[in-house]
Amino acid sequence: MVSTTQRDGTTWYRCEECEMLFDSESDAETHEENCDGEDDTPSYLQ
Ligand SMILES: [Zn+2]
Repeated sequence: MVSTTQRDGTTWYRCEECEMLFDSESDAETHEENCDGEDDTPSYLQ
């Protein structure tokens, strides 16, 4: 699921599957629907 985190006074939305950060909640939710990070290499590259 998507979680929020505060960084530098800004709210970020984090995919808990691969820990990628997004500045838009909708972007994070869209990503997570397609995320397969739970069983493979985390996608830290952006
Ligand atoms: Zn993800």
